[in-house]
Amino acid sequence: MSNGTTDLEALLMERSLSDPQLLAAAEAAADYRILPDATVLKIGGQSVIDRGRAAVHPLLDEIVAARKAHKLLIGTGAGTRARHLYSIAAGLNLPTGVLAQLGASVADQNAAMLGQLLARHGISSVDGAGLSAVPLFLAEVHAVVFSGMPPYTLWMRPAAEGVIPPYRTDAGCFLVAEQFGCKAMIYVKDENGLYTDNPKTAKHATFIPKISVDEMKARGLHDSILEFPLLDLLQSARHLHEVQVINGLVPGNLTRALAGEHVGTIITAR
Ligand code: ADP
Ligand code: MG
Repeated sequence: MSNGTTDLEALLMERSLSDPQLLAAAEAAADYRILPDATVLKIGGQSVIDRGRAAVHPLLDEIVAARKAHKLLIGTGAGTRARHLYSIAAGLNLPTGVLAQLGASVADQNAAMLGQLLARHGISSVDGAGLSAVPLFLAEVHAVVFSGMPPYTLWMRPAAEGVIPPYRTDAGCFLVAEQFGCKAMIYVKDENGLYTDNPKTAKHATFIPKISVDEMKARGLHDSILEFPLLDLLQSARHLHEVQVINGLVPGNLTRALAGEHVGTIITAR
């Protein structure tokens, strides 16, 4: 039997880093999940936090109760204030990387607010979910709040068109869940899930309980309830093969989704 590490080392010294044989050797190690018991929640910015206490308080009560049985990484969206900043900055012709910094500052504000509201329950907000004390918080109090925007800032990869940062808080929260090998990713928003059209403007839109990424694209729904680059991230993910979008304005939905129930729309990689 050949020694996988030696093979990989030899390949890494000699080949291009995208060489197919090198990539196969790098894949050979056993799968490893860093935080397999944790679930990542994304609390919507525009859809939830911007609604203020009517939406936020009941949800935080559910989170505080749920963390007895679950380990929760709670990411924040940005929302209306970020959209306002994007419109001003784009109007001034500032680049994607600058807009990404502005958007991140709003997700940070939302994380600061949720952190202060959860402080009395021993739940803190951390700067950047990139580990640091996250495992300790999860072990001790079963929950931690983080700012959902991925920290690409000025190095945000621009979209094919326009200056709006394509990887925002839906993508940022998903990447945390995927990299840590978490057990589930739940998006908490203000509609029951995905519809055939935007339910806020299309009265006859019908609900879709479960759909694959390919089907979403085929039906022209790729740019709807989640940031569209997330769909490609989901299809190439190693650990997470589905996400659920739920209505956080309906009491009990989050608790049920955490228990593994299908209460919103499940979007599957295949
Ligand atoms: P967040 O607050 O997490 O950023 P968004 O406001 O960006 O969430 O996304 C949720 C919104 O997406 C819903 O409030 C809804 O109005 C809109 N939306 C657009 N198209 C659809 C669709 N086909 N199905 C469901 N929601 C949709
Ligand atoms: Mg959004």
